[in-house]
Amino acid sequence: MSYRTEEVAYVQPAQPAAAAQAAQQQRSTAEYRALDAAHHIHPFSDMGSLNRSGSRVIVKAQGVYLWDSDGNKIIDGMAGLWCVNVGYGRKELADAAYRQMQELPFYNTFFKTTHPPVIELSALLAELAPEPFNHFFYCNSGSEGNDTVLRIVHQYWATQGKHSKKFVISRKNGYHGSTIAGGTLGGMGYMHEQMPSKVENIVHIDQPYFFGEAEGNLTPEEFALARAQQLEAKILEIGADNVAAFIGEPFQGAGGVIFPASTYWPEIQRICRKYDILLVADEVIGGFGRTGEWFAHQHFGFEPDLITLAKGLTSGYVPMGAVGLHDRVAKAIIENGDFNHGLTYSGHPVAAAVAVANLKLLRDDKIVERVKTDTGPYFQKKLRDTFANHPIIGEISGAGLVAGLQLAEDPKARKRFANGGEVGTICRDFCFNRNLIMRATGDRMLLSPPLVINKLEIDEIVAKAKYAIDATAQQLGIS
Ligand SMILES: *Cc1c(COP(=O)(O)O)cnc(C)c1O
Repeated sequence: MSYRTEEVAYVQPAQPAAAAQAAQQQRSTAEYRALDAAHHIHPFSDMGSLNRSGSRVIVKAQGVYLWDSDGNKIIDGMAGLWCVNVGYGRKELADAAYRQMQELPFYNTFFKTTHPPVIELSALLAELAPEPFNHFFYCNSGSEGNDTVLRIVHQYWATQGKHSKKFVISRKNGYHGSTIAGGTLGGMGYMHEQMPSKVENIVHIDQPYFFGEAEGNLTPEEFALARAQQLEAKILEIGADNVAAFIGEPFQGAGGVIFPASTYWPEIQRICRKYDILLVADEVIGGFGRTGEWFAHQHFGFEPDLITLAKGLTSGYVPMGAVGLHDRVAKAIIENGDFNHGLTYSGHPVAAAVAVANLKLLRDDKIVERVKTDTGPYFQKKLRDTFANHPIIGEISGAGLVAGLQLAEDPKARKRFANGGEVGTICRDFCFNRNLIMRATGDRMLLSPPLVINKLEIDEIVAKAKYAIDATAQQLGIS
């Protein structure tokens, strides 16, 4: 089956002439950069060095393309930051925000009040999520979602009279956001170093990163099983009566698109059930179609007790996060008095209205189905065909429209580059030169394009990635 723009309601705009674009623009690139350097502190950045080199100024976007302030047209292989699932420029979402701002721009949901957008969104999420997920709590980001998860987990065990269940087990190189709780749950050492006070009672086990961490001649399945069994060992060490929950991303996104082998999640689930521990799936990247299923835990075939949602919930058009509660958890929270947690903007009407418009697009335009049956398999095959036996590609991970490309010094021996981050940065700079956004996490190159991408656009991304990876190999003198 082929599809082109007739199934995709956005219209590719002609590339704006540099002059016309310059006329729309308030300031020159140099002026923007100077002001940015003078007043703006960027997230996760070395500001001194960024200010010396200058940021790229992104001024507009449509479909899967971005334009910078110099008029360059850039293909966005990362959907913004893993979030713009329906692509840029969808009028349905803009209209929903505009209408809602006029009708009811804000009202809280704290004091016995509610409003239509949050009601519609909750009912729609219950329809789209797997059967046992019928209740949703709202916040403004994935990080707040995971803070909320901790609050729900502890309230849940309090309602069960199991007050000693306080420990939460997470994974090294997991990413769960950057509030204090999110950063502590995550397993990024460089973040922990800058957080002298962390949330108590959070411990980490090793990640299921086969290429980088498997020793000897374990198969991927054996290795994943061994990594899952670290959870059991950790529970026994702490005592099951003291463990409240395990949290993990079904596949690690920021950690490098690490896809565990099929043995991993069923074993994690078995262990959680055996020791009566809540299983939390952080679906902030995996949710809303990324793998070709609505939620990534469906791709891996397990049933969590809580799911964290954000990013694709609104396709990033406005900030919003949420936590989905399995019926058995929801029941305990609902029937046991006050739950003392909330955010001013919990269920914000404009965000909720945008989320509803976004989810209806994903559903009614059959975007998720297309990722599963058409563009996802095409993307995965194209990457594997293009990089089979490439001298510096050691592994290609992923499903649907997400992929990780492991750069390696000796792919067959699973030998990584001694200074992985440097090689990733070289490759990312070659991507930039060809107007492709591909992210580098250490020595893994990541792709996660908008889910509305078509096959021609996939071809463009893969061709540009090939150029960048070939150029990297050449610069390293490997061929
Ligand atoms: C991005 C991300 C978060 C944090 O979301 P924010 O909206 O940046 O707070 C949490 N978990 C995962 C898996 C993420 O990818």
